[in-house]
Amino acid sequence: MASLHIKTPLAVLADDCAGGIVVRDGRIAELLRVGQRPSSPVDEVFDASRHVVLPGLVNTHHHFYQTLTRAHPQAINKKLFDWLKALYPVWSRLTPDSMRIATRLALTELLMSGVTTTSDHHYLFPSDLDDAMDIQVEEARKLGIRMTVTRGSMNLSEKDGGLPPDSVVQDEDEILADCERVIAKYHERGEGAAIQIALAPCSPFSVTKSLMTACGALAEKHDCRLHTHLAETHDEDEFCKSMFGMSPLDYLENVGWLNDRTWLAHGIHFSESDVKRLGRHGVGVCHCPTSNMMLASGQCRTRELEAAGAPVGLGVDGSASNDSSNLMEGVRHALMINRLTYDASVTHLDALRWATQGSARCLGRSDIGEIAVGKQADLALFTLDELRFSGAGDPIAALVLCGAHRADRVMVAGQWKVIDGWPVDIDIAQLRAAHGAAALSFL
Ligand code: ZN
Repeated sequence: MASLHIKTPLAVLADDCAGGIVVRDGRIAELLRVGQRPSSPVDEVFDASRHVVLPGLVNTHHHFYQTLTRAHPQAINKKLFDWLKALYPVWSRLTPDSMRIATRLALTELLMSGVTTTSDHHYLFPSDLDDAMDIQVEEARKLGIRMTVTRGSMNLSEKDGGLPPDSVVQDEDEILADCERVIAKYHERGEGAAIQIALAPCSPFSVTKSLMTACGALAEKHDCRLHTHLAETHDEDEFCKSMFGMSPLDYLENVGWLNDRTWLAHGIHFSESDVKRLGRHGVGVCHCPTSNMMLASGQCRTRELEAAGAPVGLGVDGSASNDSSNLMEGVRHALMINRLTYDASVTHLDALRWATQGSARCLGRSDIGEIAVGKQADLALFTLDELRFSGAGDPIAALVLCGAHRADRVMVAGQWKVIDGWPVDIDIAQLRAAHGAAALSFL
């Protein structure tokens, strides 16, 4: 299918295109006003009169492997550090097979919720899991979803003053060699990239300053992005002060990461002056509302960060602290928690902007996250046919307020990847059974 007219949609999250969207060669070629027809013949017409069309959602923080430890009895009802200490030994049992099935499940869930681009922060490399990045790339390619695969890492274990046990850390040389390897092998540059690589040491309490600094230099050398957890909890604040003698943001600057190559997960406990510094340097922040509520971590200062000029994106976070991978649900949670923190002037459009344009900026991409001529044809189409939408007035507001959680159609680069609510290339029942069986060994 080289060209398609998505005709007369019920609503579109873009101005002045009630006549629909024309897709040609994987890009958005035209936005049509009421009654306007495509400027030249198209191969296919899709009647979208039942559909609300959004830009494909962009998820900027996750840990796919954690789908194997959802609602884990040893971890529920704990705050971050206690939750992590309970789970590290469980996670050390991760194998290549369980990594693959966890990745496939998370990607499928994301796609079905309307996500067309995702990142994953994978920092766990038990002894026989050297090819974790390769597994993730293979699975993303199979499903046809865009992905920023982050080569995460941990090298500061308990014996050196860090949080994780020895069993889940690697040494710096091994980590940096694999970063070089995966960048050379997989990192695509330019418009329409399907796979990109970012470097992502896990957090101040699980990596050394030396590794952070080296990853910053490597990202600059290869022009790729940097990602880490920062300012998630007060415990982390205390850790940075006692271990490094500085605040998390001073630490970030100290290791050479205070620049527009970096996007942070959570970014909750920042002072007024921290927020201004982040904005001045163009550091992105991925707001993870569901996880932050679940672990009682706090609220990202979305409004102040955006006002200061920092890109704000949205993420579901790992499936042991969400515990689902549904970014439309994340949009709804973002609206609610931000309403509670600020006031009713935070709108559903703000939450949708974080999940699309804001997230795209966090990943350093200008070719996705928006329905506009020239952008990639990445779209999520929802119907309002379920009972939960009956009686709804504003179709776009209804998606967020009534709780949409499953797209009817999803398109990536002009190709349908979800049709009638089902991914085109995946047997869902088989996936559910295989993943459920794999998860049993983590209990
Ligand atoms: Zn995380």
